[in-house]
Amino acid sequence: MGVNSLEEQEICISCGFCCDRTLFDVARLTASDELWGKLVDRETEIDGKRFMRLPCPYFDSKCTIYDKNKPAVCSSFKCKVLKDSINGVFTKQEALDIIKEAKKTRDELVKEYRLLKGPEKTFREIFVDAHKNPEFEKNKELRLIKMKADLLDILLTKYFKPEDAFKEFYELID
Ligand code: SF4
Ligand code: SF4
Repeated sequence: MGVNSLEEQEICISCGFCCDRTLFDVARLTASDELWGKLVDRETEIDGKRFMRLPCPYFDSKCTIYDKNKPAVCSSFKCKVLKDSINGVFTKQEALDIIKEAKKTRDELVKEYRLLKGPEKTFREIFVDAHKNPEFEKNKELRLIKMKADLLDILLTKYFKPEDAFKEFYELID
């Protein structure tokens, strides 16, 4: 038997990867999503479709507007580890452990990047920088950061990115 809806919430509250720009640069909006407050400035258009730029300004360790009018994707999106927990592939504790490990890896990477390059960046920003900036091939420490970013991306792809993720959220490297 899989996790129940309260346990689903517990898993997501411990994570936040789809809000804080760990998994995606932007989140897909539907035609009927009405943005308000700080979300208004986050709207963007890509290939004629509406998106919201991440990280979400209402993410502060967890969603701070969970009981308010959020974009539809915020309630509908379920990453792979969450789906697998609902389907009984993972227990709640196993899902929490996977998230904890991924967060630890990400936080270490963010810290190492900040020590080497200065500003604090999200994982996706670091990943993009590592793949677009030639200095990551020339400098030994930056090369190591790039390798770690690639490994984390594999971990995130394996556990968090279901194929249909790209219908709802949107990954943007270029
Ligand atoms: S990445 Fe998955 S577990 Fe994490 S907050 Fe999003 S849906 Fe929940
Ligand atoms: S509104 Fe809440 S659930 Fe939606 S992206 Fe922002 S923090 Fe995440």
